[in-house]
Amino acid sequence: MTIQGVAVLGSTGSIGTSTLNVLRRHSDRFRLVALTAGSNATLLAEQIKEWQPDFAGLVSGTGPACLIQAATHPEARIVVNAVVGFAGLAATLAALKAGKRVALANKESLVVAGELVRAAALAGGGELVPVDSEHSAVLQCIAGREAALRRLILTASGGPFRDWPPDRLQRASIAEALNHPTWRMGNKISVDSATLANKAMEVIEAHHLFGLPYDRVEVVVHPQSIIHALVGLADGSVLGQLGFPSMELPILYALTHPERLDDAAGRPFDPVAAGTLTFEPLRADTFRAFHAGVLAGRAGGTAPAVFNAANEVAVEAFLAGRIAFGRIAEVIEQTLEQHRAAPADSLDAVQDADREARAIAGRLAA
Ligand code: NAD
Ligand code: MG
Repeated sequence: MTIQGVAVLGSTGSIGTSTLNVLRRHSDRFRLVALTAGSNATLLAEQIKEWQPDFAGLVSGTGPACLIQAATHPEARIVVNAVVGFAGLAATLAALKAGKRVALANKESLVVAGELVRAAALAGGGELVPVDSEHSAVLQCIAGREAALRRLILTASGGPFRDWPPDRLQRASIAEALNHPTWRMGNKISVDSATLANKAMEVIEAHHLFGLPYDRVEVVVHPQSIIHALVGLADGSVLGQLGFPSMELPILYALTHPERLDDAAGRPFDPVAAGTLTFEPLRADTFRAFHAGVLAGRAGGTAPAVFNAANEVAVEAFLAGRIAFGRIAEVIEQTLEQHRAAPADSLDAVQDADREARAIAGRLAA
């Protein structure tokens, strides 16, 4: 049995540390060959001590070039990209061009440059496998049935403000926004899950991963987060993937797809304990960041990159206490209004759009 080399980008984060848990359990199958972190030098040093990787990089120390070195490491067969934000894009492209399997948690890569990411995979023979739980669920349901895929229904927990009235939502605090009902995640994606910008990103991500037009990618709110996605097939049959919320299963599946390994670490599924499963429509008029994100996805070109940049700037400003929660969606909407969308046909074009949008959003969020 061959042991596959794995590089983990963003190893100190929520997905990064979950990935290391998975690798620890399956050390007979995988060897950690490269690690990178953003700025947490202490935790990175602990990880280096435990894993003795061939390569380790700290972006705050050496700059972002270490991400590319790790993503193209000759011993790495699989690259887990668990970097948060636009900063993950270049490594996704480099790994795919180098023919790696990219286990993609960094959904921002696909949001800002979906076409470029797909082209990089084609050019380099790389393979893109989602880590995002909804997209992992879709992949697990359609494996072997790709030709019959007609429709996706992504589930959304609805976040901590699912049933809040719009005026209360405007004034939500940082602590309230970070208090996700069903998942423990990094701060940025937690806020994205509270505004539902995250779900718009996931719609764009699904469009690119599974090649479906936007009309065929739907969203339903399912507060229990038990069903991770539903897949509609040609004859009307609908398949779903279920489980108690845990990112370790989608991470493991991204490493092994289309195979499966024995892994008993997760809480065994118990339908009675899961309780009543409910579904309701997403309130797109209240969660305006969701609405703006899906419109940007449909517009295409650099619009999704502008949406993403404005969101990153606004979320950072919110987490720093500079703007109210309700202002996040306004910054996104106003940045999209002020930006003239262009084709996203090169990394330069996407980086330019990202930079311009950050400048606009930075003024709006001041
Ligand atoms: P996190 O904030 O916990 O971790 C982010 C990681 O990226 C850290 O290791 C950090 O050091 C690194 N990083 C931050 N800025 C960087 C930069 N400029 N350059 C290089 N590295 C940098 O975030 P997370 O919750 O682990 O999420 C990571 C990604 O996975 C995000 O794209 C998120 O949307 C996605 N994701 C997360 C979850 C989840 O359950 N946490 C689920 C689905 C998707
Ligand atoms: Mg998700």
